[in-house]
Order: sequence, then structure tokens, then C-alpha cells
Amino acid sequence: MTLIEALILSTTIVLVLVSPMTGSFLKCWADRAGVGQRVRDGRSYCDSCGKTLQARDLIPILSWAMNGGKSRCCGEPLRWTLMTAEITSLLLAIWAVLVVSPPLLLPALLIAWMLQATALLAVPAPRQATIIGMILSVFALCLAWFDLFGDVQTHLLGFALGLLVALVAWTGATDPGARFLQAATLLPPLGALLGVSGMGVALAIGLLFAALHNAVARALRRDGEPVVTAAASLAFGWAGGAWIIWIYGPSLFSGAF
Ligand SMILES: [Zn+2]
Repeated sequence: MTLIEALILSTTIVLVLVSPMTGSFLKCWADRAGVGQRVRDGRSYCDSCGKTLQARDLIPILSWAMNGGKSRCCGEPLRWTLMTAEITSLLLAIWAVLVVSPPLLLPALLIAWMLQATALLAVPAPRQATIIGMILSVFALCLAWFDLFGDVQTHLLGFALGLLVALVAWTGATDPGARFLQAATLLPPLGALLGVSGMGVALAIGLLFAALHNAVARALRRDGEPVVTAAASLAFGWAGGAWIIWIYGPSLFSGAF
């Protein structure tokens, strides 16, 4: 193994190991924003008894598994759905490692994390979601500018179209009947990432993902938990559609549309 290969391999391993922590952090951010708290407002606490959690309780996925799915302080069973964001980040990282060539791994993971962040925050923290979406847009346009992913014009046009629709949606989003429009935050980064045609395909596939996400979320929901809104499902669906098209390219689905 050459030095370069060893460096690439060790970076890959570290990035995959770190990925559930980004999911954990983003979920904490989204959950706290949902109840009007900031992500830096105090330590994490047990949902059942309110006790402050120790560092060993906060290792993504592993803490849950080591404690047999129960909280260590009061023995209350913990929902495995607490880990969905952590599992999602881990799966996205493994997916990227399997599909993307090593030099593109870091950009792929940054895109995966920013898509996940925008989708998770779209409803509870729309302002932060928009900021991350704009950073992702700039990042995607830079990649297109350096000619890594095709023609920069179609990416710029996709971004402009997405921004236009998002601006219209945001003006209407104060209307309670149009709350699903919060997912429009995903549109500018989708256009910037995928260009016009790729964006169209991603939005269509995203609708299927959104329906699936909403059905599963409703089936797993327990009494007393907030209902997963159509806007949240749409945001996840579109982020998922964008990931599939970005990682495999729009040509994969060109026969089907
Ligand atoms: Zn407890």
C-alpha cells in the first residue's frame, strides 16, 4: 500500500465512523428547534426522567445497543427511531464509500450531510435550513464551475429556478394551509446540485420517497408524539431524490421518464 492509498483509506474510515455523530448532532438541533430551544442550550437529558446524560450515553447507535435499548438512568425503553438520523448518516457514508471514487468522497459526504441538515431543519428551523441550503448551493455551483459535474449553466439555471419557486413558496408559507411549502427550502440546492433536468427527476422521485416516509412515520408514531407533517416528509423525500440522482446521475432514470 502506498502512502496516498493509506491516507485515503484512513480518511475514509474516520469519515464513516464520524458520520453517525453528524446525524446525532443534526437530530438534536432539529428536536431542540422544534421546542424553541437552541442546540447549545445545556447538556442532553433523559426524555423519561430528565437526568443529564453522561458522555457514555451519547455515543451514536452504540450507546443504544450497549444498554439494550433502555436508558441507563431509569431503565425506560428507548425508541429505536431515536437513532434514525444517526443510522441515515451512517448508511449515506457507507453508500458514498461504495459508489463514489475516493477523491470525490469528501464532497459526497459534505453534500449528504448538508442535504440531511436542510431536510431535518426545514420545518423546525426554516431559517437555519435556508442558510445551510444556500451554502450547499454555493458548494454545488463551485463543483459545477470547476467542471466536475457537467455544464455550469444548467446548474445555475436550476439554482435560479429553484430560488424563484422557493421565494414564491416562502411568501405563501405564512398561510397555515400552505405549510408544506417549507420544503421549498430544498429547491435552490437541488437545482444547483443537479441542473434543470436532474432536478426535475429528483423532485418526481422525491414525491414517492415523501409518501413512503410519511406512511412509515405515521405507522411507527406513538401516542403523545408530534405527527410527522407533510412538509417534513416532502423535505426528506426531496433530499433523498437529490442524493440518488447526484450519486448515480440523471441518466440512470432517463429511460423511465
Ligand atoms: Zn432516565
